[in-house]
Amino acid sequence: MTLSPQVAKNQFASDNYAGICPEVWTSMAEVNQGFTNAYGDDPWTARACDLLREFFETDCQVFFVFNGTAANSLALAALCQSYHSVICHELAHIETDECGASEFFSNGTKILLAPGPHGKVELAAVEQIVGRRSDIHYPKPRVLSLTQATELGAVYSVAEMQAAGELARRLGLRLHVDGARFANALATLGVPPREVSWQAGVDVLTFGGTKNGMAIGEAVVFFDRQLAREFDYRCKQAGQLASKMRFLAAPWIGLLASGALLRNAAHANRCAQRLAAGMQAIAGVELAHPCQANAVFALLPPALQNGLRQRGWHFYTFIGSGQARFMCSWATTESDIDHLLADLRLVAGEVDHP
Ligand SMILES: *Cc1c(COP(=O)(O)O)cnc(C)c1O
Repeated sequence: MTLSPQVAKNQFASDNYAGICPEVWTSMAEVNQGFTNAYGDDPWTARACDLLREFFETDCQVFFVFNGTAANSLALAALCQSYHSVICHELAHIETDECGASEFFSNGTKILLAPGPHGKVELAAVEQIVGRRSDIHYPKPRVLSLTQATELGAVYSVAEMQAAGELARRLGLRLHVDGARFANALATLGVPPREVSWQAGVDVLTFGGTKNGMAIGEAVVFFDRQLAREFDYRCKQAGQLASKMRFLAAPWIGLLASGALLRNAAHANRCAQRLAAGMQAIAGVELAHPCQANAVFALLPPALQNGLRQRGWHFYTFIGSGQARFMCSWATTESDIDHLLADLRLVAGEVDHP
């Protein structure tokens, strides 16, 4: 029996609407032979960790978990006591989209919110949040958490990451990066990964795989190995220790050894650029944020949103008021974008209805 996919044409709701990319699929098939030790004590898991160490050019400690919520909240829990606080952007995934997981896994660590344009934390606000109180009644600031690329599709430059790292050090904060789309940021920046991670002062990175062509999986990368102490127990207790770990590790081998990690991300970014350019050329449509990664945020009048939805397009509008978000992935094609733009021109009345 064959079932037709529920959503037949390619979609722009999220980069996780896409399937598994060929390099990941091949790598999973390669490890799907015979028997091997469970729980990560196998050669493929070791190889995936080594490839990540090569990628970052440092002796980091790596853990593989099932999803980003676990990666973020367990990483933050490893950095914090329950009386600490984490400073992040008011639209950060850890604040708005993880159902309180960070607070839960850290036994109550409070999240303090900072503003900033395009999802980037304004460093002056961080300084103000840390500086406004130093008494025992205030949840002690302990971590600055940034999202790279941001939830609004922007990318912190190398200089901005360095400035965040310097501020964190000066204020006695640890620096965490939610890198669900870190590969997209790297593809935009075109710098060695070390420059926007440990060399900029990042202590822990949540490195996303799912949105870049995997079925399942994120890596938690500790650049400060001290912080990884007993992290394996934390993963196990949280139900994040995969017994058939090789299938969480193999996708990283597939992406890293083949170069697909940056290829996929660059492709998704290019698609977003094409879409952004096309949208800006349509009267009545404006971009809400600069397109620097694989997202396009457009200010679309409700009539245009409805028109696109009636034509079967999926996209999100919950992320910022009046904004429609279109995500591109490794699987997006130029013709998907051209179809979407053609429909948008149609509903915008720029071409005659057939
Ligand atoms: C998708 C995403 C995550 C991970 O979400 P999960 O659904 O838990 O895998 C984390 N942070 C950001 C910014 C994301 O976009």
